Amino acid sequence: MAAEPQGSKDATPPTCAHNRSFLDALPFGDRTDFEDAARGFIGTLPKVEFRNAEGRVIFSLEDYAFLAHEQAPDTVNPSLWRQARLNMNNGLFQVSDRIYQVRGFDISNMTIIEGSRGVIVIDPLVSTEIARAGIELYFQHRGRKPVTAVIYSHSHVDHFGGVRGVIDEADVKAGNVIIIAPDKFMEEVTKENVLAGTPMLRRAMFQFGGLLPKGPRAQVDAGLGKVISRGTVTLIPPTQIIKKPIEVHTIDGVEMIFQLTPDTEAPAEMHMFYPGLRALNLAENATHNLHNIYPIRGAQVRDANAWAKYLNEARDRFATKADVVFAQHHWPIWGNARLLDYLGKQRDTYKYLHDQTLRFMSHGLKAGEIAERLALPKSLEKEWHVRGYYGTFSHNAKAVYQRYLGWYDANPANLNPLPPVERAKKTIAYMGGAAAAIARAREDFAKGEYRWVADAMSQVVFAEPENTAARELGADALEQLGYQSESATWRNAYLQGARELRGGMTVPAIPSRAGTDIVRGLSLDLFFDFLGVRLNGQKAEGKTAVINWEFPDTAQRYALTLQNCALTYLADRHAEGADAAVTLDRATLNRVILRELALPEALAGGLVKIAGNGMKVAELFALLDDFTIDFEVVEPLCTH
Ligand SMILES: [Zn+2]
Repeated sequence: MAAEPQGSKDATPPTCAHNRSFLDALPFGDRTDFEDAARGFIGTLPKVEFRNAEGRVIFSLEDYAFLAHEQAPDTVNPSLWRQARLNMNNGLFQVSDRIYQVRGFDISNMTIIEGSRGVIVIDPLVSTEIARAGIELYFQHRGRKPVTAVIYSHSHVDHFGGVRGVIDEADVKAGNVIIIAPDKFMEEVTKENVLAGTPMLRRAMFQFGGLLPKGPRAQVDAGLGKVISRGTVTLIPPTQIIKKPIEVHTIDGVEMIFQLTPDTEAPAEMHMFYPGLRALNLAENATHNLHNIYPIRGAQVRDANAWAKYLNEARDRFATKADVVFAQHHWPIWGNARLLDYLGKQRDTYKYLHDQTLRFMSHGLKAGEIAERLALPKSLEKEWHVRGYYGTFSHNAKAVYQRYLGWYDANPANLNPLPPVERAKKTIAYMGGAAAAIARAREDFAKGEYRWVADAMSQVVFAEPENTAARELGADALEQLGYQSESATWRNAYLQGARELRGGMTVPAIPSRAGTDIVRGLSLDLFFDFLGVRLNGQKAEGKTAVINWEFPDTAQRYALTLQNCALTYLADRHAEGADAAVTLDRATLNRVILRELALPEALAGGLVKIAGNGMKVAELFALLDDFTIDFEVVEPLCTH
């Protein structure tokens, strides 16, 4: 059942010893999390495996059957193994009176609150197929009721993508269902998925290990849950936005206090307290792992200080009056004393991470030195829920550094070093050539110095991408690092790196495309920003254009200027003496972006009208690059 990646090797003696050391250091005898993760279980599906309309499997727990063993194999850090087993809990759970959760069907949870007329759904998972199955499971056990409201706790796809699986947009338009989201929700959803969408998608393959087989030598978990489902992602825009720091609303008879928490786990996020139910929902700001101040898929760095501040306020204002606290991942904590303890420790973890990083910075330590030095304080290190299954202290400390001081460490030797390939060639030459470097690295590998071996062999690969011995030794080192990682995201990244060193980059050349609903939700500002991102600066050398745009269906206009290889725009303006004017409905633009309609076809059909010098418009579009996700990461780029 469990698949082994091609060329994978067993754990070495240093890896076995490293992993065994966790067994002594952590309180494995404490079963509280296992009890909490199973508490309130109502039922699940006979087989948790979901397919899309074409019959392709989009999420399956069947592949994870190997996690039935309590004992971790040598190739998995026992602390991560424990988390991976906890994340196997699945089905419908009762959290408290009127509050239910579907867990383990996707990477995130769907929370269902029973209102007076129907049910309120919070965060309908990633894919419509699974959200539908989740709500059906609830109906099966609790009776069929209308969905009266959907709440998106924040702007990440695992908290809205399945929305069309639980409601129909017609009911939203008719006013039968309201959709609530935090301030700037739509802006952040589209921003995250568009401007830097392509590199993030490729890098996410490393963070989540979605391309890896599942097994003791491969992907076992993602920290927050098993893996992201790959079904149909949708989005229906919210009808009601929470704009003030605190807002109180009664939704389908349930009183809810919303607390905005901008710049925490997501740029647009909010906590919810349900006073009548004595229940606190912390979205994704307090989960059973250290979260990411910076996810290694790449993102703008988050604010650890704000994170701690909002947790502190929620604890003070709401948690004191709560009997249960839960989030949109993992399992709840019951009992006022326990949840106050839990939230205090979560808060202190983020605050400690933030403040101690800044303290070390103020003593002159560089990011890599801080990452090496910073660890959980003794009073927190045995708390399972702050351990780094998703984020790590190491990469989070570097993120805090980056937020305040950026990528540069102030050592001018690092200000303008040679780029990776040239630097690697000189370094390997100084080492006495690839063969000498590999010979020394083999000795270090035998001693368990995998971090250095991975680094040194990466230099050889960048100098000589065809050097099979370096690729294999580098892969072996990454693999042992993966086996040792307590963090699921590090394990996935290391093992994906090993896979690409061994087998080459096998990602298909598919374009990264935003889904239909995301494109519909895109602001025109963001559309024109993204055109600028696609403009090929070299090809645009010497070219100029001024183009007016008119969107009659939304009564919007833009003036777009190309000069100095840069595309700029002004909203609500038309430029005097423009080269051309383009008139099209926003609906037509969406179809063009989604490639449902080619531009020449749209012109021929009269859906797009161009006045003035049409050649200028054609010339501009010929300057735009298309992006695909098939770029090399662990070796030099070969095609771009
Ligand atoms: Zn999430």
